Amino acid sequence: MTFVIASPCVDVKDKACIEECPVDCIHEGERMLYIHPDECTDCGACEPVCPVEAIFFEDDTPQEQRHFNTVNAEFFSDLGTAGGAWKLGPIGRDHPIVAQLPPLGDVASPIASKP
Ligand code: SF4
Ligand code: SF4
Repeated sequence: MTFVIASPCVDVKDKACIEECPVDCIHEGERMLYIHPDECTDCGACEPVCPVEAIFFEDDTPQEQRHFNTVNAEFFSDLGTAGGAWKLGPIGRDHPIVAQLPPLGDVASPIASKP
């Protein structure tokens, strides 16, 4: 099991979660961040700091966001286990499902707009 980042992060990417991760397993893509499933220790430190509630424990990902469990895992399929995001630096691409999304920066997320 692992934590995953879902669609509310797309085009937000404020990186608050990175500051909290004790094992540096949150990697920066072009439009969102991704959690490495083999490096995440399930500590949960990142989840409460996300301002748009984009981070979920894998089993708790909402049904309409469930494909992001696969999106996070597949993002790393050709990167292997890096042993820390700092070693790879920003990865200038996204999972194809994310790359094809329309720009979301001006769209108010129902999750983001919650008080
Ligand atoms: S805190 Fe949330 S919105 Fe910010 S980069 Fe992390 S997952 Fe994305
Ligand atoms: S659950 Fe812990 S180890 Fe996993 S990404 Fe979040 S802060 Fe990092």
